[in-house]
Amino acid sequence: MPHVQPADQKTGDIAALLLAHYDVHARDLPWRNRPGEGLPAPYHVWLSEIMLQQTTVAAVGPYSRKFTERWPDFSALAAADEADVMAAWAGLGYYARARNLIKCARAVAVGHGGQLPATEAGLLTLPGIGPYTAAAIAAIAFDQRAVVVDANVERVVSRLFAISIPLPAAKPIIREAADAITPGIRAGDFAQAMMDLGAGICSVKAPSCMLCPLQSHCDAFGLGNPEAYPVKAAKKAKPTRRGTAYWVEREGEVYLVTRQDKGMLGGMRSLPDDGWNSRTNGDGKAPFTASWQHLDNIVQHEFTHFTLSLRIAVTALGSDANPPGGGMWWPVKSLDKAGLPTLFTKVAKAVLASGER
Ligand code: SF4
Repeated sequence: MPHVQPADQKTGDIAALLLAHYDVHARDLPWRNRPGEGLPAPYHVWLSEIMLQQTTVAAVGPYSRKFTERWPDFSALAAADEADVMAAWAGLGYYARARNLIKCARAVAVGHGGQLPATEAGLLTLPGIGPYTAAAIAAIAFDQRAVVVDANVERVVSRLFAISIPLPAAKPIIREAADAITPGIRAGDFAQAMMDLGAGICSVKAPSCMLCPLQSHCDAFGLGNPEAYPVKAAKKAKPTRRGTAYWVEREGEVYLVTRQDKGMLGGMRSLPDDGWNSRTNGDGKAPFTASWQHLDNIVQHEFTHFTLSLRIAVTALGSDANPPGGGMWWPVKSLDKAGLPTLFTKVAKAVLASGER
């Protein structure tokens, strides 16, 4: 038996009410056009959707502006130096997205004449574009009817229909309900209106139901317990992994390596480390023999599936010393330009604040 049986009247009303609300209250975002101002540039929509995967709108704003100013279209990004793109992405996290960004730009430039395909099926053939992103781009950039379900939409839909099955088992039911309320026209505006509602009024905690245009159609509001939705399965505790980062200095320069393309923070510049990853601790072996001094500070960093607890070892080398491994020397004074991932920026700050150099 289906879990969600939205009545036609209810589903039609939801789209009309929400679009009328969106026409007045749409958020101004750098990659969007106001309702009625035509479709936004597909390049901007694609870039923002890749950046927004598991990242907040507030964090993405400055990166979206920086990228579109520096690389204004697919051809420019396709021709960019990979190291420059990775460095420009530094701080945004989930670095596999940046590698796929370059691959996708090159695939669009070479295989599609610099234009994104306009359909979900076409978009799905490109690197870094999964079902959610394909649906979002098809709807927002090309006004195709596509069912767009991100975490915000998931929350709104599970409340509208008081879906009591816990996530993640509820996902197909939520999608079915989202499909039922998605209109045949203005699907892109509808998707963005749902995202806005989830990001603002229908917040995780204390939703502002009194301001909500969908209140009269919301089952969770009717039941008096919107915060109970979406129902979540009990979380497993995150494991902690341990490792060591190595700060090697030589006359005002610090030694950086480029991480292997595959694996955690792949392709990024970083300090040398002892090989920790999401499944195992580092082996504690320094990259070469030297007089290492361990700092008292421990850097903690939260990844999605584990917590990393990183010790720091420092050493100073003579002016003509060169560690094995083909890294590079980078001036400590301009380390903020190296594009280090947040984890290693934390390590650098800890070293510089310690005075142990
Ligand atoms: Fe969310 Fe409340 Fe609106 Fe229901 S009425 S969709 S719970 S804000």
